[in-house]
Amino acid sequence: MPGLGATREPTAAGRPATPHAVARWCALQGWPVHPLASGRKTPAGNCAACRKQHHPAAGCPCLAAGRPCHGFHAATTDPALIDAWWGGTPSWGVGVACGGADLVVIDVDAHCAQVPDRNRLLPGIPIHDDVDLQGLASGFDTLALLAALRRQPDPAQDESTLRVRTPSGGLHIWYRNPHPAVRFRCSTGSGSKVALAWQVDVRADGGYIVAPTTRTAQGVYLREGPARLPAPLPEWLGEELVRTGHMIQQAPVRPSSRPAVPRSRRPRAAGGWQAVLDPLLGEVAECAAMPEGAAFTEKLNKAGYTAGGLVAAGHLDEAAARALLSDAAERARPWQSTRNDRIIDDALTAGAARPFLLQGRS
Ligand SMILES: [Zn+2]
Ligand SMILES: [Zn+2]
Repeated sequence: MPGLGATREPTAAGRPATPHAVARWCALQGWPVHPLASGRKTPAGNCAACRKQHHPAAGCPCLAAGRPCHGFHAATTDPALIDAWWGGTPSWGVGVACGGADLVVIDVDAHCAQVPDRNRLLPGIPIHDDVDLQGLASGFDTLALLAALRRQPDPAQDESTLRVRTPSGGLHIWYRNPHPAVRFRCSTGSGSKVALAWQVDVRADGGYIVAPTTRTAQGVYLREGPARLPAPLPEWLGEELVRTGHMIQQAPVRPSSRPAVPRSRRPRAAGGWQAVLDPLLGEVAECAAMPEGAAFTEKLNKAGYTAGGLVAAGHLDEAAARALLSDAAERARPWQSTRNDRIIDDALTAGAARPFLLQGRS
């Protein structure tokens, strides 16, 4: 539980909270923050170099140097960085990186839009013709419908958790992931792939959410109801997220001692880097058996450095390397995703400076 200081709201003095104070308060909750463009709900722009180059966030020198490029990838809980960012540009808004904060935010839209076919309102749940959908107009209605079908209270009315009214009349329902080893992905309720309900978005890993009190040209994101902090995600809602494909499946990591596929039978192109990287990933994953004193950081560093070299030599693509490293790290230290990502970033960057050429293979 956070102490008194950590739960005190930045508005306590009776004045409107400055974005700087809000950012500091969020960081005290353990939520990594990043700047939003002044008056907007989108991240502050990248530096000139990052704008020009269109490179991925991973390995970008700006992040290591503490520059807030690449949106939520730059998010931090470091008070010194926060002071530097918002001290320099006090008008920046505050975004919270949901994944690093272990937050799952249900983002209910109230946009005027054409209501789709009844079977697309709640993906995976056919709605019988007897159900009267007269008056259904927004995400508030589809979320209430889902809750009613499950005989659960409507999350939009959940007074136990932090809820934030958006300038467009939508609602952000903030929840804490009670099982951080289980990761959830983002989705858009109007999307054709993964979705919870029509006009209901999910913000989790790989997404960010606008912090309460943030002011944009359209208005202010205002806390609603008594709760100041997110409650644990209700179990039934977690189950709905799993049912609708929001759980991020973790690829199994083979321990170093018993490779699942004999090397001679592996595809030739992939055999080279796997033979080098698999044992190192196995060592990282095996730290799961020892929560402390397993030299986890050192092992993750070594695997990341090697992977960086393999990427630089063109044997492995960076996204794949990152996924393998994150997966091994999550298995061993699921409670410190943000720290794991940072170690991986640094190690990949360092390793990239020394390409690891595999001889006789390609
Ligand atoms: Zn940059
Ligand atoms: Zn960059």
